[in-house]
Amino acid sequence: MPFDVHQELVDCADALTDPYQHREPRWTWSESRNRISLPDHVVTLPGLVTQVGQIVWPSSRQDDGDFHVRSVPSSRPPGDPEASACYVDITIAVTRWHVMLRLTLRDTVESSIRQLLAQIMKEDRDTQILLLKEMRSWRHRCEVVLKIATPDPQLQVPCPVEGCGQRTIRVSQTKVTARCTTCRQRWAEHEDPAKGVGSIGVLAEWIRQWQESSRAAADGAWAVARERKSAGRSAA
Ligand SMILES: [Zn+2]
Repeated sequence: MPFDVHQELVDCADALTDPYQHREPRWTWSESRNRISLPDHVVTLPGLVTQVGQIVWPSSRQDDGDFHVRSVPSSRPPGDPEASACYVDITIAVTRWHVMLRLTLRDTVESSIRQLLAQIMKEDRDTQILLLKEMRSWRHRCEVVLKIATPDPQLQVPCPVEGCGQRTIRVSQTKVTARCTTCRQRWAEHEDPAKGVGSIGVLAEWIRQWQESSRAAADGAWAVARERKSAGRSAA
């Protein structure tokens, strides 16, 4: 399927703000120990941002809509710092985009995201891709907080992007992609400069060279330390 930035933006905004149905298969056992299927247990869950907000303020936001609100798991007490940080970061980012696009914030972050979506369709493609990258990171943050997704492993190598250099490259083994959570550069199997996606092969080569040079540097440091040690021993 060709990459459609408009559709991707709509999908991201929907996941963040729109209620969706969650189906859970159910079954029971008959007397003869046969498994009998029961109708799926269907619950309507609010959008991801709302669900994160419910962890941050478990009581105050429950009457926001007619949702069958999922109870907050006991492992996630109110005031969960990870959920709070996620919610605050998204709110700040949404506010920054409103300032950039000269919009007035709505009363909830969800409706502000919907407004952002309407406005971004009138902006140029580069701006749209920039917002899409951010929206994807918001969605992923929410999914990690809600335990829908597990955080991708982070590499201990500096980002090769000029001016970045942070050790915040995360790799997705399932999608065979990598991204830097600081500068938001992405790498995939097929390089696509139009989408700002670099080649994962080039990144892998950079990692190999970086590891080689740091290993050489470490070996050098060891050699110096050994020499010093043996020099000290012979002097004693
Ligand atoms: Zn970076």
